[in-house]
Amino acid sequence: MVTGQSPHRPTSGPRVDDALIVCDNLVKIYQVADLEVVALQGLDLVVERAEFVALVGASGSGKSTLLNILGGLDKPSAGKARVGDFDLIAMTDADRTAYRRNTIGFVWQQTARNLLPYLSAVDNVAMPMLLAGSSSRQRRTAAMTLLEVVGLADRHAHKPGQLSGGEQQRVAVAIALANDPQVLFADEPTGELDTATSAALFDVLRSVNEQRGVTIVVVTHDPQVADHVRRTVAIRDGRTSSEVLRRTRVGADGAHQVVSEEFAVLDRAGRLQLPTEYVEALELDDRVRLTLDPDHINVWPDEDGANDR
Ligand code: ADP
Ligand code: MG
Repeated sequence: MVTGQSPHRPTSGPRVDDALIVCDNLVKIYQVADLEVVALQGLDLVVERAEFVALVGASGSGKSTLLNILGGLDKPSAGKARVGDFDLIAMTDADRTAYRRNTIGFVWQQTARNLLPYLSAVDNVAMPMLLAGSSSRQRRTAAMTLLEVVGLADRHAHKPGQLSGGEQQRVAVAIALANDPQVLFADEPTGELDTATSAALFDVLRSVNEQRGVTIVVVTHDPQVADHVRRTVAIRDGRTSSEVLRRTRVGADGAHQVVSEEFAVLDRAGRLQLPTEYVEALELDDRVRLTLDPDHINVWPDEDGANDR
């Protein structure tokens, strides 16, 4: 049997210190009347600079809660969250405003929430630049450049009502990039789009990531997402539960192959979520036996326990 200290992942070290985003044991509890809803229960997440990470998970698993905290729109109940030099828990309201204005960009699922209906596409993109104090001509030129980045230069004069849902979301990406943020957060940006239009939006996000070096964290329901990004993190019950990494390998014949591999996530308290299908296949329940081999750990059903019942 394995006894003694549980493994402990360091909260600092080369990977964590250089990372752009670090969430450490994040907890968020919502109080609704007499009820407490635990939306995040000790979530850990590290995102490197210039990474493109997708967050997936069932409805209610805590994805929006996490993104709202990272976006400076909500505060966690406990734990640590850092983006760049900003400590999202300790920062002042003035810092929070500056953070939201300059460090990040945000894209919502609801197309209408991202755009002002009475402004043209180019004016929508130029809007967040007003506070930066550039001239109206500079703003327009910069906004046109961003519309080119998202492939919509020819639609610059259209108002949101004259654009398709996918086009509106591409304008939303351009708006989110207007202040040259370090990181772009998007909460189900393809939620209202069909498959082909979703794929096109992911292509735009990927080119923004690759060509401008903007770190991207995108929440999505899209089951195809793992094909578009290098790392997909699954959230279950307010914790990161597994990750899929997509890597390119050079095969024996010299050709590049893309290999996807799924990993379980070990959190800093040593907790591990077993995939539901494994739990069901062996009818694991309540207690399991662990044995340590030199290079791996075995998990066995508690058969004596089953016989007791
Ligand atoms: P997801 O985005 O993965 O669907 P959410 O982060 O929206 O999940 O929600 C996680 C949990 O927190 C859910 O149980 C949800 O009902 C609850 N929740 C989210 N926002 C609030 C809120 N403002 N007040 C109370 N409960 C909330
Ligand atoms: Mg959500």
